[in-house]
Amino acid sequence: MKKDIDWSNLTFSYTKTDKRYVCNYKNGAWDEGGLIDDDMIVMSEDAGVLQYAQTVFEGLKAYTTKDGKIVCFRPDLNADRLIDSAKRLEIPPLPKEKFLESIREVVAANADWVPPYGTGASLYLRPYIFGINPVIGVKPADDYQYRVFATPVGPYFKGGAKPIRVKISDFDRAAPRGTGNIKVGLNYAMSLHAIVTAHNEGFAENIYLDPATRTKIEETGGANILFVDTDGNLVVPKSDSILPSITRRSLVYVGEHYLGLKVVEREVLLSEVFEGKFAEGGLCGTAAVISPLGSINDHGKEFTFSNGMEEMGPVLTKLRATLTGIQEGDIEAPEGWIFTIC
Ligand SMILES: *Cc1c(COP(=O)(O)O)cnc(C)c1O
Repeated sequence: MKKDIDWSNLTFSYTKTDKRYVCNYKNGAWDEGGLIDDDMIVMSEDAGVLQYAQTVFEGLKAYTTKDGKIVCFRPDLNADRLIDSAKRLEIPPLPKEKFLESIREVVAANADWVPPYGTGASLYLRPYIFGINPVIGVKPADDYQYRVFATPVGPYFKGGAKPIRVKISDFDRAAPRGTGNIKVGLNYAMSLHAIVTAHNEGFAENIYLDPATRTKIEETGGANILFVDTDGNLVVPKSDSILPSITRRSLVYVGEHYLGLKVVEREVLLSEVFEGKFAEGGLCGTAAVISPLGSINDHGKEFTFSNGMEEMGPVLTKLRATLTGIQEGDIEAPEGWIFTIC
């Protein structure tokens, strides 16, 4: 039976659910793995993750489609990305099949926590791997734990998607040839001071520039950026240090194949924003799909997109509606995009 929860009023926060999946890497191999009840982790005070931040993660959601099925959206891409992230931090990659099996098991075991269709809420899944044995000299851990927990989260937008005001950060996110293209806690640890600073100044998010020249737009702390130029083309910033968002890659496909948009992936200069080259801008990621930009502030100089601060622009609105329609089963999905669990 579904849990007695006011689904539409859930926030993005942690709620302990019934089951989580655990798999341990020891003596050079991942064990069988399976579901457990215990939400607590006991480990050495000197665990590798605690000393040198050796941990990688993913984020995806399970939700109910119109016809009552519980599904996930393209989890195979989360599996691939977790492998890429793990390799970069010398963590043994988790086999793709094991990842998909863990998602299937955690969601099925917590089916009562999956919000019903139409609530806008979802069951957020957090897979992660971390070094668990004692490590004091700087080196990779020998033993690791992989876990997936699930927590119900509310609709990202309550009462419509209001455009946000963002600033150009004075801090850098990811060095050239650094770790910007993998999903790791270390990229978030260093963003915390920057986001608290931005919030204190009245901004919702930080846009990070390329650290080498500080002229090109990369992404925000936790979302990729999309623009629509004044000709109606979708423009996507390109850089080796941007995290390859699955939402962004899906939106690019949908823009091209469902909406007939021209998509240009290229370096985007901050100066182009202030020259008025873009009519619309948005942040994209699993949580919001697209969150519209209202304005971008660069040290007091502010550019406001033509949609203004009240609503999302027409092209991004259509793009967002098409992708959410595909996710929820109202529009036919490309082969392999919807992973049905039960
Ligand atoms: C997770 C993440 C995103 C969004 O990726 P999705 O796969 O679309 O959820 C974007 N930027 C950063 C830095 C991220 O960590």
